[in-house]
Amino acid sequence: MRSEHVNTTFIEQLGSILEPQFILTADQDKTPYLTDWRKRFTGKALAVVFPKTSDEVAKIVRLCSDSNISIVPQGGHTGFCGGATPDASGKQIILNLKRMNAIREIDRANQTITLEAGCILQTVQEKAAQEDFLFPLSLGAEGSCMIGGNLATNAGGTNVLRYGNTRDLCLGLEVVTAKGEIWNGLKGLRKDNTGYDLRDLFIGSEGTLGIITAAVMKLYPLPVSQWTTLVAVDNIASSIALLNLFQKRATSLLTGFEMMTEESLDLNEKHFPQMANPLKGKPPYTVLIELSDYESEEHVRQLLESVLEEAFDGSLITDAVIASNLTQANAFWHMREHITLAQAEEGANLKHDITIPLSSLERFISQTDALMKAQYPGIRIINFGHLGDGNLHYNIAPPLGLDSQEFNRQYEKPIHDLIYAQVEACHGSISAEHGVGQLKLDGLRAHKGSVAHDLMKALKTALDPQNILNPHKVVSI
Ligand SMILES: Cc1cc2nc3c(=O)[nH]c(=O)nc-3n(C[C@H](O)[C@H](O)[C@H](O)COP(=O)(O)OP(=O)(O)OC[C@H]3O[C@@H](n4cnc5c(N)ncnc54)[C@H](O)[C@@H]3O)c2cc1C
Repeated sequence: MRSEHVNTTFIEQLGSILEPQFILTADQDKTPYLTDWRKRFTGKALAVVFPKTSDEVAKIVRLCSDSNISIVPQGGHTGFCGGATPDASGKQIILNLKRMNAIREIDRANQTITLEAGCILQTVQEKAAQEDFLFPLSLGAEGSCMIGGNLATNAGGTNVLRYGNTRDLCLGLEVVTAKGEIWNGLKGLRKDNTGYDLRDLFIGSEGTLGIITAAVMKLYPLPVSQWTTLVAVDNIASSIALLNLFQKRATSLLTGFEMMTEESLDLNEKHFPQMANPLKGKPPYTVLIELSDYESEEHVRQLLESVLEEAFDGSLITDAVIASNLTQANAFWHMREHITLAQAEEGANLKHDITIPLSSLERFISQTDALMKAQYPGIRIINFGHLGDGNLHYNIAPPLGLDSQEFNRQYEKPIHDLIYAQVEACHGSISAEHGVGQLKLDGLRAHKGSVAHDLMKALKTALDPQNILNPHKVVSI
């Protein structure tokens, strides 16, 4: 049979599952779904489909399985590794979950929210707050990323230090398998040792093992007091000593500890002049610290001031500004979150989302900075990140005046190789929170080692023998 005929029949059959307005086949309609946020990957798709229910997702998967057509699940399409972007064949469909955006239940006694995969993260935070709860997952893309995408990438963000990553916040999942069956694991239990943990298998699998359609997530009481401060630090060793001091003195009150280098804030100021650093001069490192608690505002403020005093006395910090109100606290956070946007404004850059054990972080930065500067004079190292988690966004922008696309074409591989070799030497990870997608597919075998990589392939083969769920992402079989 000719392939156009197969495609026409397939689209007709899709029409028996979804109404026509939820099946996009015209080029101009599909375009917004074909390129990733960073504009690094562009693919083609036979169709973009928008199911509303888990049943519809299951029917679409069964049809794709019968027709041997592969599926790229897509949420907010804000991922950094091209996981939600189709390949160039034009034979895949994109299954976008944005219509599955119902909040099914808030269980006040269990402190959980059961919601569908297409809920936008910020909407979930707002809904939880209306009910007097905190949903702590928070990241720069929260206005457009979706909970299914957060689960599929096991997203991190700014609150991991206190509340953990998306995996830690999830108690249960509903998933459509590669066979088109619906697995209902929405029990919301905090303890359940009944064999293999299927939930953990699907979290972080980036759409390669199943399509997440709903989840039960943990809620927390809303903190009553929150204090945010920016401090100036001379070097990374002092930043880590400061973290350890806060961990000792403020323990579980510490909810944020973010690091920004002078170069990253310079870039911010260049593209967003309203985001100027309120600290004196231009400190080599600016650290954003947040404390949250259920005690009075006064109690937390006193604790914050006393730890900062100790840090001044121990010469760990050289300046500090405590946000005097919520607007200023939000401005501090916006400064941190706008670095990613400032980089996008500046042009293409080489991203490295890495974790290093805190004990090796100073060595990693000093050695890698020195090697990079020696080999690529004029290079700009835009280093910032979730320091409390040992997670750096060690990004590279070309020397000023050079074309970034051309620079990346020429130096992307050697720069990745250099940085990842340093990561391996420090026993770190080449993907802390962004995942693998298609971006890091090639390097994964070497990084994980052959035993772990073969186990991953065995899992993929067992759960998706036809290889129809997001093929050639994370692991190729
Ligand atoms: C400005 C900005 C800041 C960011 N900050 C952070 C940060 O601090 N921490 C962080 O971890 N990430 C961050 N990210 C990256 C990104 O927002 C996260 O990876 C997010 O979790 C992706 O969600 P999404 O809905 O956009 O998923 P998409 O990009 O649509 O998809 C991501 C992957 O998940 C799969 N997928 C999506 N939905 C489903 C589903 N329902 N079932 C199965 N598979 C699915 C896709 O196939 C793809 O492989 C940031 C991105 C931007 C643009």
